[in-house]
Amino acid sequence: MVEIQRIGVVGAGQMGNGIAHVCALSGYDVRLNDISADALEEALETIRTNLDRQVSKELISADEVEPALARIQTGTDIGKFSDIDLVIEAATENRDLKEKIFRGLCEVIPEHAFLATNTSSISVTRLASVTDRPGRFIGMHFMNPVPLMKLVEIIRGLATEQETYEMATRLAGRLGKTTTNAEDYPAFIVNRVLVPMINEAVYALYEGVGTVESIDTAMRLGANHPMGPLTLADFIGLDTCLSIMQVLHDGLADTKYRPCPLLVKYVEAGWVGRKVGRGFYDYSGEAPVPTR
Ligand code: NAD
Repeated sequence: MVEIQRIGVVGAGQMGNGIAHVCALSGYDVRLNDISADALEEALETIRTNLDRQVSKELISADEVEPALARIQTGTDIGKFSDIDLVIEAATENRDLKEKIFRGLCEVIPEHAFLATNTSSISVTRLASVTDRPGRFIGMHFMNPVPLMKLVEIIRGLATEQETYEMATRLAGRLGKTTTNAEDYPAFIVNRVLVPMINEAVYALYEGVGTVESIDTAMRLGANHPMGPLTLADFIGLDTCLSIMQVLHDGLADTKYRPCPLLVKYVEAGWVGRKVGRGFYDYSGEAPVPTR
């Protein structure tokens, strides 16, 4: 059984920086990769801020911060992954892009290394099939924000070997997470249920059933959700939500999964949520203001 020591993370966006954060805090050496040097710089700042927040909430001690940060190396060159034991891919939710990343990784990483994808919806079996090691490939679906959220959904592809499954569940446990197993069908469990609910909330807005605020208030106070569905959509990223709906629509061929045209329009406008400062709410002021 391979002992995991060095973990490569591809994609330094909201998920990648969170995965790097929890891995480094748990003692793993982390190589964080992105095509954008700016994204890497921002990721390190975010990780520092989030570690400091954990200190102020007394979740970790202050002397854990610098060692954790020192365990994270960043870079735009995937060639640095030549001695890695596991890669967790958390790049943009796009099948062609992820396939290209995995093909490139196989040329660099050692033979023993495992590959994991954090995809929210794309077939793990399909991504595994473009690699030279489908048996050592698995889905590890972390939740956002990674340092706070307890769940990792584990998705075995058709070819995933037991050793790979055990590696993933053991790693998740060491990161302080609870795992649940999902079969490899479009969007797995969490997003199969969650994202159509968000899409329905966007339809309710599109059809004028409610305003942004009334829909969010209704679901917070009426269904006891900690956050309204439109706030949650902004938090996840509207591009990611749209991509998941498209995977559900294509993969299950059922019109009940058609993406709401208003969701498409927001993505076309580049108003994809919190990560750009604007989605169903504008985040430039003190408090979020609805954009419709
Ligand atoms: P994001 O847009 O915040 O980050 C994506 C990052 O990938 C960007 O920094 C981008 O520069 C980088 N990237 C793009 N192409 C790359 C390449 N070829 N090589 C290296 N880096 C590349 O997106 P995110 O929200 O962090 O989502 C990342 C993945 O995690 C997606 O697959 C998404 O479905 C999944 N996910 C997202 C959430 C969520 O709530 N946002 C939750 C669970 C899983």
